[in-house]
Amino acid sequence: MDATEFRHWSHRLADWMADYLEQVESYPVRSQAAPGSIFSQVPPAPPAAGEPMEAIFADFERIVMPGITHWQSPNFFAYFPANTSYPSLLAEMLTAALGVQGMIWETSPAAAELEEAMMNWLRGLAGLPAAWSGVIQSTASEATLAALLTAREQASEYGINESGFAGQPVFRVYASGQAHSSIEKGVKIAGFGRRNVVKIPVDEAFAMRPEALEAAIQADLAAGLRPCCAIAALGTTSSTAMDPLRAIGEICRRYGIWLHVDAAYAGSAFILPECRSWLDGIELADSFVFNPHKWLFTHFDCSAYFVRDPGALVRTFEILPEYLKTAAAGVNNYRDWGIPLGRRFRALKLWFVMRSFGAEGMQARLREHLRLGQLLAAWVDAHPDFERLAPVPLNLVCFRWHPQDQHDPAALDALNEQLLSSLNLEGRIYLTHTRLNGVYTLRMVMGHPDVTEAHVRQAWELIQARSAQIAAR
Ligand code: PLP
Repeated sequence: MDATEFRHWSHRLADWMADYLEQVESYPVRSQAAPGSIFSQVPPAPPAAGEPMEAIFADFERIVMPGITHWQSPNFFAYFPANTSYPSLLAEMLTAALGVQGMIWETSPAAAELEEAMMNWLRGLAGLPAAWSGVIQSTASEATLAALLTAREQASEYGINESGFAGQPVFRVYASGQAHSSIEKGVKIAGFGRRNVVKIPVDEAFAMRPEALEAAIQADLAAGLRPCCAIAALGTTSSTAMDPLRAIGEICRRYGIWLHVDAAYAGSAFILPECRSWLDGIELADSFVFNPHKWLFTHFDCSAYFVRDPGALVRTFEILPEYLKTAAAGVNNYRDWGIPLGRRFRALKLWFVMRSFGAEGMQARLREHLRLGQLLAAWVDAHPDFERLAPVPLNLVCFRWHPQDQHDPAALDALNEQLLSSLNLEGRIYLTHTRLNGVYTLRMVMGHPDVTEAHVRQAWELIQARSAQIAAR
């Protein structure tokens, strides 16, 4: 392909993208593809001779599109959103055109310096401590792994990096029973051993009980184990429960434990001053992650990871082979701030998004999402055959269908599974589930940039209609 043909296709694809996003509601939200149906249409080996773009694009529409779940539909209420926006999309196009690999400052000073500036913007917007430093990681999982590794190195006086675990004490990691699975995964990768994650019980709002954390730490100390890291969740995955940060932070300080805060989804809400009470005690933490790629209109991947002491982070990861040595001094070489060497230029999309929306524009959208969350919660509460199963601090509503004459827990689980399956098969909306206190729970999150009250009302009417149909069978 030459520049002329590229120009033609990029214009055509820009039109396609705008049409797609305008018409995204016309697709079934969750892909209706059967397992293996996409793979079976792809030849086992690449073509020997190049093919025309017309044929490739036709196959994109014919083979790929039916296998797409439409995350950018305002009727996508599943998991947590993976927000995008037009400004973010434009920046991603430019990033692709530049093709920068920003592993060190010299490989693109703009990538490194814009990243530093954007992390400072986000830090200020989210009300994080002004002295902290930020870096973009691919995912919250990767940021949490970075936190675990830094905590491990600090606790072992950087000895495990040098000599491995031999002769080291058994290190312990604490998180609530509602914490995200990425913590257990990080613990496995960091070599702590999965058995050394201590799951701390939660209260009736699914938030960590600080007194249980302290009791677990004391029991470990008495048993000769070494408390190393605690992870507080601000916004758990199942129900957006908020762990009590100050109480946890005070305990961590008392016992010299690294405190990492996983606010992967809910962290975006802290751009709203009225949501900052959950951040009370943040100055006691060592690290904090949230994902603008979930709820801040910025394409995946973009996790904002903030640390009190970038020196500890760099000391954990730095490595300096001859071929990466440069003369630049006093600059950030972000290859030393995380796991991968190679890095995409991800700050550009944050720059486009924050400038295009403005702080007030982003805040207005998030406030509307919070309003919609409370509205749905009120509708659920008012319905005699539905039941809310968790508090709604933000815009995720956890609930179930509970016909008044049905009291058998297994039957209620089965009814809700059936309801969810029929809704998702129909494809007009997409919801997912979790279990809270062992109960099969429907989750509905209103975080799409353009979701409106009409979308939520339609979804709620559909949920009621389908449950009535199932009941009538
Ligand atoms: N932490 C929490 C609380 C989450 O909800 C999620 C994902 O939903 C993650 C971590 C993992 O996020 P990522 O996909 O960025 O690794």
